[in-house]
Amino acid sequence: MFRKILIANRGEIALRIQRACRDLGIATVAVHSTADAEAMHVRLSDESVCIGPPAAKDSYLNIPAILSAAAITGAEAIHPGYGFLSENAGFAEMVEAHGMAFIGPSPSHIGMMGDKIAAKAAMASLGVPLVPGSPGAVMDLAAARPIAARIGYPVLIKAAAGGGGRGMKVAREPAELEDAFRLARTEARAAFGNDAVYMEKYLDRPRHIELQVLADNYGQVVHFGERDCSLQRRHQKLLEEAGSPAITPAQRDTLGETATAALRKLGYRNAGTLEFLYQDGQFAFIEMNTRLQVEHPVTEMLCGIDLVREQIRIAEGARLGYEQRDISFTGHAIECRITAEDPTTFMPTPGRVTAFHAPGGLGVRVDSALYAGYFVPPYYDSMVAKLIVHAPTRPDAINRLRRALDEFAVLGIQTTIPLHRRIVDDKAFQAGDYTIHWLEQFVAGN
Ligand code: ADP
Repeated sequence: MFRKILIANRGEIALRIQRACRDLGIATVAVHSTADAEAMHVRLSDESVCIGPPAAKDSYLNIPAILSAAAITGAEAIHPGYGFLSENAGFAEMVEAHGMAFIGPSPSHIGMMGDKIAAKAAMASLGVPLVPGSPGAVMDLAAARPIAARIGYPVLIKAAAGGGGRGMKVAREPAELEDAFRLARTEARAAFGNDAVYMEKYLDRPRHIELQVLADNYGQVVHFGERDCSLQRRHQKLLEEAGSPAITPAQRDTLGETATAALRKLGYRNAGTLEFLYQDGQFAFIEMNTRLQVEHPVTEMLCGIDLVREQIRIAEGARLGYEQRDISFTGHAIECRITAEDPTTFMPTPGRVTAFHAPGGLGVRVDSALYAGYFVPPYYDSMVAKLIVHAPTRPDAINRLRRALDEFAVLGIQTTIPLHRRIVDDKAFQAGDYTIHWLEQFVAGN
């Protein structure tokens, strides 16, 4: 058993991981930038170490400072959370080289899935269906033209190192290909320092369906069903559901069997999420995330499991100790990502929170590091709270979500709570009738 874990993150996810550690009787070390000295994740940890100035590159991405913090506090393991260093294979490798456990997959699997071209090739060779596209990297416009003609317009140019929806451009017809190709490359170089791109058929009305998996170090791989993350703005998720209103239990089983069989062959370990686009009854793999995801709580509510606890147990070398048939799916869960943004213009709204009241009651969970008097700094991601509800049926969950959003008060800064409140009352959302393009139109029409 680990006695002490360093959490290399901030905000709600640092708190979330701290809670799992506490529940297991494990001490926690928080790291923080100078801007986060008063943050909740620092206040609630057993120990904390300042690792640098506000800019993430100097603090939460500062590998030598984080490794030193772990060494001086005697931490035995590091949990990276999501974002920051969570998908940095070199960091995972260094953690292990310093004699600590990295709570996540092996560095080689992080590296493989971090290159989306390699990830697609690996999944295809393991029998997982893909979105039609280029067989590998597309080097230049001359190579792109015949590929686009073969897969058929519209096509999407995507960054091999992509993440957060960046480095992704659509070409609806041949005349748009040159600009899309150039822009995707430029954006990819700026965001990831790597301008390798590939191409995919641009699907016109898919849903984003992803599958949560856990694997121990002994070849046992199970899945915890799907999440529907189709409600997106600029390819970024805003609201997630488990299960998907569009997927039957039989489809869940089939997808789960294909995915877990592939990961078993790959020798994957710890938590992971396989992302698919789903259209016309077909699933097509787009990428795999080798970390805990923002939206993991909907799965926890649906399956009654603590995924972070499982990640820690796996990293300690424990066996999962259960099989697929032991995992059940009860009711319906929905999560709203609440950001410090203007709910109509989406301009970030950092500033002082003057009052904070979180909703409660049966089936309501709030993961947030906000408190009254807290100053939301301008340096980091604008997500400040996740509201998760669970109820016996989807209509019940929607009613509970409406009620919880009405109770939720964050004063002093603007948040996206009013946007979520409008989504809940929309007929198409209530009918579960939406694709990945729905929210953009909904926002534009309001
Ligand atoms: P990132 O790693 O940047 O998040 P993803 O490959 O996961 O990129 O895609 C993010 C989102 O972009 C998807 O959830 C989907 O909404 C959209 N998307 C990705 N690939 C396609 C595609 N081939 N056709 C249509 N939409 C796509």
